[in-house]
Amino acid sequence: MTSTAATEQRPRTESGRLNLLGLDAAGLDELLQELDEKPFRSKQLRQWLHQRRVFDFDEMTDLAKGFRGKLVDLAELRVPKAIFDRESADGTRKWLLALESGQAVETVYIPERGRGTLCVSSQVGCALDCGFCSTGKQGFNRNLSAAEIIGQLHYATQALEDEGRERRVTNVVMMGMGEPLANFRNVVAATNLMVDPYAWGLSRRRVTLSTVGLVPALYRLTDVSNISLAVSLHAPNDALRDEIVPINRKYPLRELLPACEHYLGNTPHHCIYWEYVMLDGVNDSDAQARELAALLRHIPSKINLIPFNPFPGTRYEASPRERIHRFADILQNAGFITTIRRTRGQDIDGACGQLVGQVINRRNQGKRGTTSANA
Ligand code: SAH
Repeated sequence: MTSTAATEQRPRTESGRLNLLGLDAAGLDELLQELDEKPFRSKQLRQWLHQRRVFDFDEMTDLAKGFRGKLVDLAELRVPKAIFDRESADGTRKWLLALESGQAVETVYIPERGRGTLCVSSQVGCALDCGFCSTGKQGFNRNLSAAEIIGQLHYATQALEDEGRERRVTNVVMMGMGEPLANFRNVVAATNLMVDPYAWGLSRRRVTLSTVGLVPALYRLTDVSNISLAVSLHAPNDALRDEIVPINRKYPLRELLPACEHYLGNTPHHCIYWEYVMLDGVNDSDAQARELAALLRHIPSKINLIPFNPFPGTRYEASPRERIHRFADILQNAGFITTIRRTRGQDIDGACGQLVGQVINRRNQGKRGTTSANA
């Protein structure tokens, strides 16, 4: 087998091979250099893997036989498989995708007029423990590899194509299970492939990373990426955000907001998308809407109000419809473009915050029932 110190360090599949799907342009360039192959092979490979989605090295006829032989020895191509598949009355689709480790994550496809959005997971579980999110309640197990993240796009694209219903993925949101910035390297590699013209070729406006706001990672992201940024705010001040989004105690608003402005100042984007989940009697008053408007007044912003999607055991309740509209009106009158997210896929537990997958919680192993699934 051909390998060097650097290839040894790359994540491998159970068979010990490198899953080539997870290498972005820079990763492939590096590999090619190690294999003593020409740099232009990198583009060819990305086109085979991500555009034509050909997984048999022998079919990659414009690659020299010797090079194909090296790839056969070193690498393989693996896409996660669905072990569960549900379609909502509103057309939203949810797949539970099995990973090699015996765990599973959820991926959701949301068809809308003229576009199709894939909601992609970045971790098995989540360590952040936001009280209103069922993924957080599962605990955390591990980061997904870049191949497992981009593999969700592969799986969904193929599954939709096979069904022949003219559905396809035009947008990706990193809003599934997990905190994308806590799995920085792999999420960056996978999202690079999504916007790479030789791979998935999606516009950077159509690939959105949603984060709770891990400040140091946000600064690092500014240097290596330029996809759209959505930030889960959920409160107009630190006292309340500390309670709803516990990581705020570590990265308070006075640090988070400048990090977001830094992203805007150094990428081609014109605004931050703020997400704000509407929790009855907690963060949804008129005064809180005004406080939110004051907080964001200097930052180019679009605000997306998310109706809370309940799940068993949560202590929160959804704000009434009229409250959400009133809150939106106040923000709109203050000059913010404000939208109310349409709840999709609730009947299949596919809506925001309802994804639980199959997580074996590493933090609590042995303490309580450790496996959870909603399949
Ligand atoms: N960790 C990332 C991505 C997670 S999910 C983040 O926090 O942004 C994407 C969005 O769904 C986030 O804004 C999250 O706060 C929201 N969300 C989580 N649970 C929810 C629920 N039960 N109802 C409505 N929105 C929820």
